[in-house]
Amino acid sequence: MIFKGTKLYSIFGNKCPRCHEGSFFENANPFNLKKFDKMNEQCKVCNEPFEREPGFYFGGMYGSYALYTALIASVFVSFVVIGEINIFYVLAVLIPLIILTQPLFFRWGRLFWINIFVKYDPEAHKKPQRNVPKW
Ligand SMILES: [Zn+2]
Repeated sequence: MIFKGTKLYSIFGNKCPRCHEGSFFENANPFNLKKFDKMNEQCKVCNEPFEREPGFYFGGMYGSYALYTALIASVFVSFVVIGEINIFYVLAVLIPLIILTQPLFFRWGRLFWINIFVKYDPEAHKKPQRNVPKW
């Protein structure tokens, strides 16, 4: 169980890293392929800005890179090394799996990155907008 107030709640729940109330991405469904990458400009509950500076989310790629590495390594070790299944059968499953998980890993990577810089504040919705420069 992932509780409100933890970073994992924000990352996997598509929630603002500051108040854990507002949505980070506009559309709750990551598999809506036309809108899966559309973020809200700021939190609709606490006004935390999500568009922080140009290139901020390049760092999010570290998060999705780690997720892909974990996925590929675990599938490879369990099926090719331990299960001794032909690598071509494994690739036939792994490649579609990588494509299917792309919207999820993209979102989790970005939420992971912003959660490094923003701390949870249960009183955030009561406080006025923070003074963060607009880019
Ligand atoms: Zn918020």
